[in-house]
Amino acid sequence: MPKLTPNAQGQFNLPDDFLRRRHLDPQATYWLDERDGDLILHPCRPDMRKLYIEVTTACNLSCQTCIRHSWSDPAAHMSDATFARILADLPSFPQLERVIFTSFGEPFYHPKFLQYVAAIRQLGLAVTIGSNGLLLTDAVWRKLIELGVDQIIVSIDGVNPQTYADIRGAQLNQVLQNIERLKALKSELNAPLPNLGIEFVVMRENVEEVPALCELASRLNATRTIVSNVLAYTPEMYAQKLYDYAPQPPIKTQGWPIRSDAWVRWGVMELPRMHWGAEPRCRFIHDYATVISWDGEVSPCYALSHNYQYYAIDGTLKEVTRLSFGNIHQKFLAEIWMSEEYTHYRSEVRAYHFPSCPDCDLRETCDLRARNEACWGHNPSCADCLWAQDIVRCP
Ligand code: SF4
Ligand code: SF4
Ligand code: SF4
Repeated sequence: MPKLTPNAQGQFNLPDDFLRRRHLDPQATYWLDERDGDLILHPCRPDMRKLYIEVTTACNLSCQTCIRHSWSDPAAHMSDATFARILADLPSFPQLERVIFTSFGEPFYHPKFLQYVAAIRQLGLAVTIGSNGLLLTDAVWRKLIELGVDQIIVSIDGVNPQTYADIRGAQLNQVLQNIERLKALKSELNAPLPNLGIEFVVMRENVEEVPALCELASRLNATRTIVSNVLAYTPEMYAQKLYDYAPQPPIKTQGWPIRSDAWVRWGVMELPRMHWGAEPRCRFIHDYATVISWDGEVSPCYALSHNYQYYAIDGTLKEVTRLSFGNIHQKFLAEIWMSEEYTHYRSEVRAYHFPSCPDCDLRETCDLRARNEACWGHNPSCADCLWAQDIVRCP
C-alpha cells in the first residue's frame, strides 16, 4: 500500500507504479468519495463493458410470469432518434464488448429491430438477443446468421406443451419448430453461429420438467440453459416460488453433448441459488454493465429499470421506483456513466453497503423497506435483491 503525504499546498501525487498498474493516465480525473471514514478515489473512466438495450416494452405474448402485469409503464417501442443517440455514443466506450437486447418486451416485435442489430454489429460489437422465439421466421434467422449474431436465448418455461401453454399462453410446437429451423439453416449455410441458449423460469408448476429440459436442450443443440427463479409480482406467483430462507432440495439436472462440426462439446445447465444467505454480488455492477430503457433512461440494472411491485423473499410487498441516472437525449452516455451519482452508486453496490432487510426483526412493518429504501441511507436499496443472491438470473 503506497503511503501518500500531501505537499505544502495539500496536494497528493499518485505514485507512477500505481498509475501504471491501474492503467491510469497521469492526467486522469477522480471523484473523491467517503465510506465509513475511508477516503476513496474513483477514476472517471468510460469503462462500461456490457450494454443492455430495451428496444421495446411491447410483446406478442402475455405470460403469467411477466413483470408487465404489475406495472403501469406504457407498452412502447424505442424511437429511431433514441437508438441513434445510443449508437452515436458507443465509440466513447473502448472496453465495450457486447450489446444484449433483452428485458421486459419482445425485441423482434419492434419493426426496426434487425436494422438496430445490424448497426451494432457494424461497430464490431458482439450481440446477444433474448426472445420468446415465436417471431423467428426463416427470414429472421437468415438475417441473424448474416449479421454474425453469436447468441440467441429463447425462453421456454415448459417442456410439456400444456405447461408451456398455461404459463406462456402459446403453442410449444410453434417455438420448437422455429428453433429447429435454426439448426437446419446453420447446416445449410455452414454457419457456426448463432449459438442457441434456453432460458427457463422454474416454479412449482414446471420443476418436474427440468430433466426433460436437458433432453430438449440436447435435441435442439443448445449450448447453455439458464434456469432462473421467478420474481413474484403477484400472490399467485409468490405461491409458485421454490426458493426460501432455508436450503431447498437441489434441482435434478445433467449435462448434454453438443455437436459442433467435427467435435463434441458438453452443454451445461446454469442453475440459480435456491435460498437466501449468499454473500451478495451484483452481476450488473461487477460486469460493468448498464441498461438503457426504450425511452433513453439509463439505469444500473433490470431490477431498477421500471416502476413495479413484487413480493420479497418473506412475502413483503415492495414498491420499486425506477432509478435513472439520466436520459441519453439530455446527456452523453459517457457523461451519465462517469457522473458523480452513478459512480457513487456503483461503488456502494460493489461494496454491498446495504443492511440485510430479510434478516431484520422489523422487516414486516418497515415502511422504508416497503418502498425499496433502507435505513443506511443509500437509496434505492439493494437489500432485498434476488439478482444479487443469484436467485433470479438474466442472460
Ligand atoms: S415473452 Fe417476455 S416480455 Fe413477453 S409477456 Fe412473456 S415474459 Fe413478458
Ligand atoms: S430498512 Fe433497516 S429497519 Fe427496515 S427492514 Fe431493512 S434493515 Fe430493517
Ligand atoms: S444489486 Fe440488484 S437492485 Fe442493486 S444494482 Fe444490482 S441488480 Fe440492481
